[in-house]
Amino acid sequence: MQANTSNFDAIIIGSGQGGTPLAKKLAKAGWKTALIEKDAIGGTCINRGCTPTKTLIADAKLAETVGQAPARGVQISGMHIEFDKIMARKNEVVNAFRTGSEKGLENIPALTVLHGEAHFTGPKTLAVEGPSLLSGGGPSVSLSAEKIFINVGCSPTIPTIPGLDNIPYLTSTSILELPALPAHLIILGGGYIALEMGQLFKRLGAQVTIIERSGSIITKEDEDIQEALGNVLKDEGINILTHTEINKISGQQEGIVLDLTQNGKAVQIRGSHFLLALGRSPQTKALHPEATGLAIDAHGFIKVDEYLQTNVPGIYAIGDVKGGPAFTHISYNDYVILYKNLLEGAHQSVKDRQVPYCMFTDPQLGRIGLSEKEAKAAGISYTLATLPMTHVARAIETGDTKGFMKALVDTNSKKILGAAVLGTEGGELMTILQMAMLGGITYDTVKDMVFAHPLYAESLNNLFLTLDK
Ligand SMILES: Cc1cc2nc3c(=O)[nH]c(=O)nc-3n(C[C@H](O)[C@H](O)[C@H](O)COP(=O)(O)OP(=O)(O)OC[C@H]3O[C@@H](n4cnc5c(N)ncnc54)[C@H](O)[C@@H]3O)c2cc1C
Repeated sequence: MQANTSNFDAIIIGSGQGGTPLAKKLAKAGWKTALIEKDAIGGTCINRGCTPTKTLIADAKLAETVGQAPARGVQISGMHIEFDKIMARKNEVVNAFRTGSEKGLENIPALTVLHGEAHFTGPKTLAVEGPSLLSGGGPSVSLSAEKIFINVGCSPTIPTIPGLDNIPYLTSTSILELPALPAHLIILGGGYIALEMGQLFKRLGAQVTIIERSGSIITKEDEDIQEALGNVLKDEGINILTHTEINKISGQQEGIVLDLTQNGKAVQIRGSHFLLALGRSPQTKALHPEATGLAIDAHGFIKVDEYLQTNVPGIYAIGDVKGGPAFTHISYNDYVILYKNLLEGAHQSVKDRQVPYCMFTDPQLGRIGLSEKEAKAAGISYTLATLPMTHVARAIETGDTKGFMKALVDTNSKKILGAAVLGTEGGELMTILQMAMLGGITYDTVKDMVFAHPLYAESLNNLFLTLDK
């Protein structure tokens, strides 16, 4: 260890959704704590993930609603999109969230926040490159701690495609800084980020093409969900090319040219902008994990046990960097598990925790528990309850009848095993079922429960009534 190494009780690398609250909690408990962040405080969610995208999606929904207004008897003239204003509101929301996170880290005596990039130099030592509070602005400092928490997250995956280096491609980060609306946005990938971005930009006025190698979008989901959502997006005018591989990309004066193979045939398409949406890769290389002997999997994710402990005693990994479900609420729950175990003597683990999620397309897709695909693969027997949104009174009244909901039920125990709600407020509806699953509330109780009329929630009566037939 260097003579000028500063010793801490805990070091947190990355101010993501788990790291930031963990730093505060440990410091407030009296641990001498350092939080190291190379970029903006708050990590992906606040700065380039959930917050900016959901803000933009809300404005795209507004544009869609206004566009639908004449058909509903509300005449509007002269509607047009001011992209710069929409982006400015997004920036305001992001800045407000980020400032809130920064302020939350102030005035905690045991907490030191360092701005710089950290990497391991030994088993429990790190160097931080960049301006630092400890060094008074020097280029590098050395820190050590018995407990180190890695919350460095992921960044967009950049694939190897011939010609890619020669065109100004976009990622989910850089697309959020566009100065003007793309004329024709081509998106590579048919996953959650691709669909949210595609619908958002289509609704703001861009032409959108989605290219997907496999036979469908959101391949992890059940086929009926894939099909229903695919139809919604196609009806809105999004061009979805499945079974399509990209061979080469080039830039010309009139835009970007993609040489594709679709169902074995050579096809060429042109667009103004090209977004890579092929998933996210862990930011572990720059950490020099080999310096501390950390076990990393073939994709670069840090291996942890069910208590989030790595193979090096005292070093933990939280959030996206450990692989598995990459959601803000999972990173946050990792923090909850760790603080309970470390400060309150609990023995919580990630095993069997619920992993709900919501894709913020319109309609939303709320998901919890087993899908039909997963139940079949695991040989779990189930009964299926389904209800189209056209049978939901609230949806009919609001005019938002796209989608359907489905729930898997264990007929013997009557417990709800999983659900998918593709519908307006699908995420909120899913959460009601999640609560029922957590509390062991059986489907027949939900079927007969009193819900206020005419909420979307009341449709859960009808969903489970279908099992009586
Ligand atoms: C476009 C988009 C939309 C999304 N939408 C949703 C959504 O709707 N709902 C949802 O739940 N999730 C969503 N996600 C995923 C979500 O943002 C992440 O799962 C979440 O932010 C958790 O991240 P984390 O805590 O693992 O780390 P992050 O938030 O990624 O934070 C990691 C931090 O570590 C810093 N760092 C990295 N390396 C170093 C280093 N060596 N030294 C110092 N600092 C370092 C980084 O700068 C970063 O600030 C979305 C993601 C994207 C990209």
